[in-house]
Amino acid sequence: MVLSRPPRPRSARQCADPTVLEQRAWIEIDLAALTHNIGQLKNWLAPGCKLMAVVKADAYGHGVSAIAPTALAAGASSLAVATSQEGIELRQLGITAPILVLGAVNQAAEIEQLLTFDLQPTLCTPQQALIFSETLSCRSQTLGVQLNIDTGMSRLGTDWQSALSFVQFVDQLPHLHIAGVYSHFATADEPDPHFMKVQHDRFKQMVTQLRAANLCPPCLHIANSAATLSDRTLHYDQARVGLALYGLAPAPHLRDRLSLRPILQVRARITQVKTIAPGTGVSYGHKFVSDRPVKVAVVGIGYADGVPRLLTHKLKVLLRGQKITQIGAITMDQLMIDVSHLENVQPGEVVTLLGQDGEQSIGADDWAEAIGSISWEILCSFKQRLPRIYRS
Ligand SMILES: *Cc1c(COP(=O)(O)O)cnc(C)c1O
Repeated sequence: MVLSRPPRPRSARQCADPTVLEQRAWIEIDLAALTHNIGQLKNWLAPGCKLMAVVKADAYGHGVSAIAPTALAAGASSLAVATSQEGIELRQLGITAPILVLGAVNQAAEIEQLLTFDLQPTLCTPQQALIFSETLSCRSQTLGVQLNIDTGMSRLGTDWQSALSFVQFVDQLPHLHIAGVYSHFATADEPDPHFMKVQHDRFKQMVTQLRAANLCPPCLHIANSAATLSDRTLHYDQARVGLALYGLAPAPHLRDRLSLRPILQVRARITQVKTIAPGTGVSYGHKFVSDRPVKVAVVGIGYADGVPRLLTHKLKVLLRGQKITQIGAITMDQLMIDVSHLENVQPGEVVTLLGQDGEQSIGADDWAEAIGSISWEILCSFKQRLPRIYRS
């Protein structure tokens, strides 16, 4: 949801101007950076390879209603979502580009919606394809579908050994048109490419079999962000890029491939400042007890906004261009920081949780590493309670 388009703040401190942003906490999203990232990716893609922008889970928490149109305007050819409902929401925004639903379709009622809203489902088994074909038997329309082949992810899809017979089976079913055949890597973000190569070999073998059987699907694809960045021979007809659109590298060894810019920043305001005496506990459980007088600033953001509670005592935030230590347990709506070394800290000052302030920056990767998670999960954990503010 586009809430407002304030003048572009040049630095975090400028946001402290109450006429710019009044919120206690918010997410800033830089659509120009998204356009930049897509430009970088499009230059990198092998000739003929199109960019499919993966915008599932509300565009990885960035807000799909702003991200999807910007991604298409910047040169993405199609979109991917996880569920039919996510696809319907895109159509209701007026988006006409092809949309692939990556997840499994579980209810017959969804088939009608797929037709109505012109969404391509992923079919994973011959049984599923048969149900689709039978459900559509009384219709004159044909539904474009994509077939998922499991080359080693062991998630959705028909095993690669049975891929040929699966494709042949769907090919002869009425009311279905095979618009694409794809697979998904399990280990593309690991520095050791061994298993990615095993999966690619299985995929190549399948493509050879399909060609020999005169079944040449119009669109073959296998690469996620990590595979797209690591090896251009994996690009095929399109690359399904999620994380890299949002400006993050899937792994440290892939960081230098392109100059991607994170598009999301998370900021919150200081709501109160107090000085506590030595020996005073802070927050639930008094996990922090001061050993000296400590100037504590309360910041208006917590785990209900998407700041993981597991970051307690591991979190650094940026204030006045400096890294500041977080103290005491992170609570649902608020957290505390130690500002003892700063002069005259005032309620209303803006703290950067993720993003840039002066020379310093903190990324979703830093949070992920601190709590044993991945940046994908950090991004899609931010809640609707945080307003998204878009700048273009
Ligand atoms: C989520 C997803 C992607 C995108 O993955 P990234 O690592 O974010 O690029 C691609 N393909 C499938 C099947 C997915 O589920």
